[in-house]
Amino acid sequence: MRKPLIAGNWKMYKTAAEAVNLIRTIKAGVHALSGETDIAICPPFTSLATACEEVKGSAIGVGAQNMHFESEGAYTGEISALMLKEQGCRYVILGHSERRGYFKETDELINKKLKTALKYNLIPIACVGEWLEDREAGRHFEVVKGQFQGTFDGIEAEDMEKTIVAYEPVWAIGTGKTASPEQAQEMHQFIRKLIQEKFGEVTAKRVRILYGGSVKPDNIIDLITQPDVDGGLVGGASLKAESFVDLIKGTLKAGVS
Ligand code: PEP
Repeated sequence: MRKPLIAGNWKMYKTAAEAVNLIRTIKAGVHALSGETDIAICPPFTSLATACEEVKGSAIGVGAQNMHFESEGAYTGEISALMLKEQGCRYVILGHSERRGYFKETDELINKKLKTALKYNLIPIACVGEWLEDREAGRHFEVVKGQFQGTFDGIEAEDMEKTIVAYEPVWAIGTGKTASPEQAQEMHQFIRKLIQEKFGEVTAKRVRILYGGSVKPDNIIDLITQPDVDGGLVGGASLKAESFVDLIKGTLKAGVS
């Protein structure tokens, strides 16, 4: 069975001082819960050290939202995988649609980052997902397939199993519009089939595929109970302790692990 994961993407929110308060409240909220759901928070770079310190002794893992593909070098303003490891990060989000859109990240670039993350034992949360115009034109499967092929090019099955895929239809991110559980399942099943074709049946069964796009406490159960949905990558609802903890409780209630 795949263990569900609820991962919070804080984007460019929360100073280190604000992160302390949020993490302490989340920790108190999840303290008595069973460990059947993995929990991750992905704060901005400047809050990572504080977050890693604050989560010590809890079941919460910390991730970054981006990294450079080179191990080091003259790349002003960038952060390396080694630097993230040094802070205590376990995960790194790669290829989020906001990186693809605003910063023009390509599948080729994300693929390089993915390989570097794996080399440094960071767990990549690699994002794919179509834009509204793709969905409206009926080419969402084609777009996601292209992203999948580019992002996971040259990856071995063993490394694929360490990777988490996040399906995030861009039209559902921060818009309040969620893909219906059926739409989410349909695409997750499609992605799992792509994994199976490229990496084999065993790997396909092991890789966790998260859904992202306006995940909230009131829709988590319908989403997580879909057979190929293994958790959520959550933006807005991860910024408030109460809703984030409710998402984890919802996952536990659904009893999917
Ligand atoms: C995200 O940031 O990855 C995301 C899915 O955001 P939201 O939950 O706010 O739609």
